[in-house]
Amino acid sequence: MTKIHVDALVVGGGIAGMQTALDLGDQGYQVALVEKEPSVGGKMITLSKVFPTLDCCSCITTPKMSAVAHHPKIQLFTYCEVDRVDGQDGEFTVSVVQKPRYVNADICTGCRLCEYECPITVPSMFDRGLGSYHAVRVPFSTAVPQIAVLDIEYCLLCGKCEKVCPVGAVDFTQTPETFEIDTTSIVLATGFEMTDVSAKKEYGAGRLSNVIDPLMMERFLAPTGPYGRVLRPGDGMEPTTIAYVQCAGSRDETLGIEYCSRTCCMYAIKQSMLISGALPLAEVTIFYMDIRTFGKGYEQFYQNAKAMGVEFVRGKVASIQEDENHYPIVRVELTEEGRVVERTFDLVVLSLGMVLGDPLARFGLQPAEDGFASLPSVNASPWATTRPGVFVAGTAGGPMDIVDSIVTASAAASAASAYIRSKTQVSIEEGEVAYV
Ligand SMILES: Cc1cc2nc3c(=O)[nH]c(=O)nc-3n(C[C@H](O)[C@H](O)[C@H](O)COP(=O)(O)OP(=O)(O)OC[C@H]3O[C@@H](n4cnc5c(N)ncnc54)[C@H](O)[C@@H]3O)c2cc1C
Ligand code: SF4
Ligand code: SF4
Repeated sequence: MTKIHVDALVVGGGIAGMQTALDLGDQGYQVALVEKEPSVGGKMITLSKVFPTLDCCSCITTPKMSAVAHHPKIQLFTYCEVDRVDGQDGEFTVSVVQKPRYVNADICTGCRLCEYECPITVPSMFDRGLGSYHAVRVPFSTAVPQIAVLDIEYCLLCGKCEKVCPVGAVDFTQTPETFEIDTTSIVLATGFEMTDVSAKKEYGAGRLSNVIDPLMMERFLAPTGPYGRVLRPGDGMEPTTIAYVQCAGSRDETLGIEYCSRTCCMYAIKQSMLISGALPLAEVTIFYMDIRTFGKGYEQFYQNAKAMGVEFVRGKVASIQEDENHYPIVRVELTEEGRVVERTFDLVVLSLGMVLGDPLARFGLQPAEDGFASLPSVNASPWATTRPGVFVAGTAGGPMDIVDSIVTASAAASAASAYIRSKTQVSIEEGEVAYV
């Protein structure tokens, strides 16, 4: 079995994992970065623009993706999953499974000829099921690495991609391969998922075609999006009235998610401003319980949205149904006025909350009450965990925005660096091989 030795293993190649890997690599440590998807980038590469600056997300994320791929100290393993973590206290052996791409990554040039030839189209998970891509494809235009991946679940085995590939990279014989990484420290940057869209049945998502999740809206608004415009998934028409339902999966005892997800107010405000730009005639209404704008420049951002004409309505949305033409009807209790009203919209976006992505058990960590990584003590730094040598970065530690994900990523890198040095000094004192 192939075995590699590194100082730090970073699990997850979103913005937090990439930042941690770059910080550690820049300090001279050998780093392995393992990402389960065929490309690094995480959620951030799918976003349109970032609050509060409205900078282009792809323009910020792509250079980092490229930097981790070309850094001399970072070994990047995409389409790989951590299977098991053995060992402790600075001597970890991590078993990783390389999933079959059915394309030889060493020789694929990313020319996409296979993709153009493939007769099968499948819903694009990159576009949250809105657009489509081929059964074999380079994952998206700025993917890193630019290597094709073949979705065997949908493949007809017609062999067209194999015939057209100029370098003979298509390989149907690939099977999962396990390799091991020996490492002194581990940083978990496995990120978040959104609250299950169907968890609040009364909101109808997954059932009502014009009730969507906010990452779908990001894809509508992104310059690289599937349609280059905002539309109603139900009939492809341009919406002129759009509602946001805040806390649709956060601060909700019935779901067991009692915390604030800390990003939903801001991304709803951001999207409403972008919609005002993309669809100048559209009216956007945000139904909220409280608006939480805690970061630098965030309150001003909120005030700007109000000045642009975004309507903020204090109220608790009870249910969403649709009329015979699939227009969502929002039933809302106006808490300040003490009455219930119903309003019909063209499109409704649920501001879903953040929940932990990958379970932490396989990394030997116990979840805290909120499901995210638990801290060793109440006074511990947010990047510490209950397992010595294992650190957490970004939203694997709890809901947070990009700025805080980057801050905790650098802090986790710093803590991992101190930990590696402490282990190295012990080795020197014991007269073992000095750390280089
Ligand atoms: C709709 C929406 C809009 C947003 N807009 C903004 C905004 O404008 N500005 C802002 O500051 N924040 C915004 N955010 C928040 C932002 O998306 C997050 O703060 C940020 O993406 C978190 O990055 P991360 O690296 O922690 O997690 P992720 O982006 O989730 O990355 C985690 C990575 O780990 C990988 N992974 C998971 N499990 C494993 C495993 N077992 N093995 C290997 N790899 C694994 C995943 O595939 C993924 O690539 C928004 C969030 C949403 C939902
Ligand atoms: S073999 Fe599969 S992936 Fe290749 S062209 Fe045919 S359907 Fe597409
Ligand atoms: S598998 Fe072949 S045809 Fe497809 S992108 Fe790679 S080199 Fe090009």
